[in-house]
Amino acid sequence: GKCRFVLFESGMHDTMQARMELEMDLRDALGNDEFFLAYQPIVDLSDMSPNGVEALIRWRHPVRGVVQPDDFIPMLEETGLITDIGRWVLQQACAQGAAWRAAGYEIGLAVNVSGRQLDSDQILTDVQSALSASGLEASALTIEITETALMRNIEETARRLLLLKELGVRIAIDDFGTGYSSLAHLQRFPVDALKIDRSFITGLADNAEGETLIHTLVQLGKSLSIETFAEGIEQQHELSLLRGGGCDSGQ
Ligand code: MG
Ligand code: MG
Repeated sequence: GKCRFVLFESGMHDTMQARMELEMDLRDALGNDEFFLAYQPIVDLSDMSPNGVEALIRWRHPVRGVVQPDDFIPMLEETGLITDIGRWVLQQACAQGAAWRAAGYEIGLAVNVSGRQLDSDQILTDVQSALSASGLEASALTIEITETALMRNIEETARRLLLLKELGVRIAIDDFGTGYSSLAHLQRFPVDALKIDRSFITGLADNAEGETLIHTLVQLGKSLSIETFAEGIEQQHELSLLRGGGCDSGQ
């Protein structure tokens, strides 16, 4: 009508439907106890001793089985559900970390915090209460924030990170090297560690440039007195190059 036409593709409807179902399922998931944490070990590359773990969220969907984070985290962020679920992650991870440390394992614990969580001072309360409820020493907890999340709102984020730092926790920049350069801002944030994104590690042996890049990132860390972590090490030769290059820790 009115000299125009509109196309409808059934695929659009299906996509919309799938998104709505995902959102509804996610709204129930926390109450139904469907989330769980997987812990990926972190080793000290100088002697290969385990020195920590990173807590990674998984979702055990009643019908679809275990859903990977890439398939539901963006929706948690869009809907704001990440605030409640992020708080749950902090509580669970700190409790597990405290239990391991009480059992004699001197390991650190890394928890991912999304940019959305850093939009409010609530994160300070959440971290503080997770620490006090679990009894975990603040220095054993590392908060990981992606480079992209840091750049969302530099002033506010820098202020909140300083307040987090005052609680005694450590701060790591996650997926380092993939976001828009935070090099100019690195000194403004109280950063303890850089986690070099796995895309730099994968296929490290196949090109000399990759090795140069890693070397540069590790040196950057050293000159700023920031620890470096390499993520996603899968091959022996990747490990050898990283150990030889002086990277501090690996996952
Ligand atoms: Mg991480
Ligand atoms: Mg990462």
